[in-house]
Amino acid sequence: MKNVAILGATGSIGLNTLAVMSLHPEKYNVFALTANNSWREMEKLCIKHMPKFVVMANEGAAESLRKVVPEGVIVLQGEGALNDIASHKNTDFVMAAIVGSAGLSSTFAAVTSGKRVMLANKESLVLGGNLLVAAAKESGAELIPVDSEHSAIFQCLQGGKQGLNKIQLTASGGPFLKTPIAELNKATPKQACAHPKWKMGQKISVDSATMMNKGLEVIEAHFLFQLSSSKIEVVIHPQSIIHSFVYFNDGSVLSQLGLPDMRSAISYALSYPSRQTSGVEELDLTKQTSLEFLSPDMDRFKCLGLAYDALEQGQSSPGTLNAANEVAVDAFLNKKIGFLDISKIIEKTLAIAPISRLDTLASVVENDYLSRQIARSVIEPSLS
Ligand code: NAD
Ligand code: MG
Repeated sequence: MKNVAILGATGSIGLNTLAVMSLHPEKYNVFALTANNSWREMEKLCIKHMPKFVVMANEGAAESLRKVVPEGVIVLQGEGALNDIASHKNTDFVMAAIVGSAGLSSTFAAVTSGKRVMLANKESLVLGGNLLVAAAKESGAELIPVDSEHSAIFQCLQGGKQGLNKIQLTASGGPFLKTPIAELNKATPKQACAHPKWKMGQKISVDSATMMNKGLEVIEAHFLFQLSSSKIEVVIHPQSIIHSFVYFNDGSVLSQLGLPDMRSAISYALSYPSRQTSGVEELDLTKQTSLEFLSPDMDRFKCLGLAYDALEQGQSSPGTLNAANEVAVDAFLNKKIGFLDISKIIEKTLAIAPISRLDTLASVVENDYLSRQIARSVIEPSLS
């Protein structure tokens, strides 16, 4: 029986993780659940799953939850408690599914304490990839990708990396693949979040619309698979049936296919190296009338180019890119800026922010903080 801590349990990945675990109660125990504010949703999860611990990042939410949870559930609060749960001696597996840089510190705590870390929170690798990979090596932690493309590549690389020429991440192209560019600045948060293939949280949905999601995934792949950016390509595949490709030097290309449903990747991260049922329907290829592949239009998807540039630049640049993106996406969701302003704000922030070496978690956090301040100051004039 594995004790699983789900960080970000009320989110899209968190709920899908609980759904997969519920199919295998003899293998997995819901040890701890965490969320930010949503204590009413957490109350329901507590009644259903009876975790030993719950952490609410927000103090007030923890107080409200404490009054209503079933007896036996211990409610903790704050980032320190998140880290304690991620590194708890009785935690075996950690699902890192908090959104954004807020997930960095708890992911780091899980990695340094040698857990199996099922990594959905790609932002933590973008911010502190070198540190996380080095910490995993030292502690013996397993970093298992949950992002569908990285799970696909991870599955294709079970025979090793020998002979690998390049990888190709597939991207759906999001809701604005064919929208005339001139109309894009009028795009509303609701339109940007209406992803044609995947049901996800708001932030990653906007990232998919700008293709920053794929940019972050290029950086994530660089750290996870230790590949230079020249060996990581992106191809648009609107049907989202093929979840990435690995090209080898004998002319073979391996890929992993499946319906666009995160439960497959989550299930594999839980059961690796074996497999188990996930609740995902079997793929029927006769129902897929066409599978298309297109090169991304870099004028339309400027964020993708910015991510490649930041990876090339290295050091603090990926962290700065991520921070500026989080600030810009938040401003867009709050209708303070237009959709096309997102890439402009990131570009300006990258041009202003100093590039520094990030050797410690504290320096990563400091760079994130400073970059956010710069991004906010870039947005301010456009508000006046
Ligand atoms: P979501 O918005 O649905 O859920 C986010 C979760 O994080 C919630 O439980 C929320 O309470 C918690 N949270 C938010 N801010 C927090 C904070 N400051 N402190 C502590 N907890 C906080 O997001 P999601 O779509 O489930 O995505 C989670 C992560 O997984 C993201 O990094 C995303 O990029 C990645 N991911 C998601 C998908 C998907 O299909 N949803 C696919 C691949 C990768
Ligand atoms: Mg993905």
